[in-house]
Amino acid sequence: MKSRLDNDFNVSFPAEIEQYERKIYDLRQLIEISKGLNSTLEYNILIDSILLTCMGQMQLLMAGIFLKKGIGNENYALHRNYKGFDVDHSIEYEFEPDSPLVKFMEMDFKCYTPDELEQGVGNDRSLNILKLLNPSLVVPLMSKGMLNGIIILGDRINSKNFSESEKEYLMDIASLAGIAIHNASLYEMATTDMMTRLKIHHYFHTLIVDEIDRARRLSRPLCVIMADIDHFKIVNDTNGHQAGDMVLINVARIIRESVRHIDVASRYGGEEFAIILPGTEIHEALVVAERIRQNIEKSQVVYDGREIKATISIGVTQYDPELDKTKSTLIERADKALYISKRNGRNLVSFI
Ligand code: GH3
Ligand code: MG
Ligand code: MG
Repeated sequence: MKSRLDNDFNVSFPAEIEQYERKIYDLRQLIEISKGLNSTLEYNILIDSILLTCMGQMQLLMAGIFLKKGIGNENYALHRNYKGFDVDHSIEYEFEPDSPLVKFMEMDFKCYTPDELEQGVGNDRSLNILKLLNPSLVVPLMSKGMLNGIIILGDRINSKNFSESEKEYLMDIASLAGIAIHNASLYEMATTDMMTRLKIHHYFHTLIVDEIDRARRLSRPLCVIMADIDHFKIVNDTNGHQAGDMVLINVARIIRESVRHIDVASRYGGEEFAIILPGTEIHEALVVAERIRQNIEKSQVVYDGREIKATISIGVTQYDPELDKTKSTLIERADKALYISKRNGRNLVSFI
């Protein structure tokens, strides 16, 4: 791909023609970027795509993004897909929606250097958190008049400062990215169970078809885990439905925290869960399942001064291209493995 300033001809054009040529080139690039950003609603893929676009277009060594943490938490936090930054993992890179930095950026939609932000915001914690990452330029993302993200750009390959036209171009990318993030967050909300913050049943069934297709085409392994809380009726009957809800939320949190970034955990039914583990062999899936089982066994919920404990039964299976012509047989096997765990006394992991 040509750089933004390349010219096909050796003759020198009047400056105006050159400028128009560059504008046309930039607009074509923006159409391509727009197509790319609109081609996915998956949050992580979209974030990668936004950051890689900025890095490619501006020749950057590093790029990161602050986004709203998600359902039930309006704070902005550094998204884990950052590229190139040397992040101190003992620090929480996070600030509130009513912080002076957010208020300042919402007033004037443009790119800022850290010095410009310091002049506008002063010495504030929110800005200091950004400055820990030592950005060269800070780009706000907006949707419906509200800040929905902040891109931070790091050092450039050529060490040059950003020109005014580059800043304008970045703001064009930022407008497209802001809308794409808004759409992806609506999709995220529509496919997430509010109580457990896991994916909904329908999402599982859509994704498993895609993953089976990918596993078959790329000859990649794929595993499915099914899990069901043990004697949950008794938990409800003994402690009340509200206490049961707390146990459910706690189990879901443990599942979320026990799986990898690429695994997708869903609430399959009331107190049943299904996890898709792409690129995973059965022995690796069994390690994940055992970790979940143990973490749940070790944990407890305190409700009304009472300590409530719960356990979970788990079934694991691996996709088999010979056996699994459709998703049904794969899901049935995982379910059967779960049933074996129940039959053999519960609080167990079994596989088929
Ligand atoms: P088993 O070990 O065989 O799974 O026993 P179990 O009692 O867990 O049996 P089962 O899975 O059939 O019971 C599901 C119970 O989960 C019944 C239902 O009242 C309860 N449940 C389902 N959804 C929710 C929920 O959102 N909140 C609460 N508190 N309970 C729920
Ligand atoms: Mg059940
Ligand atoms: Mg149960």
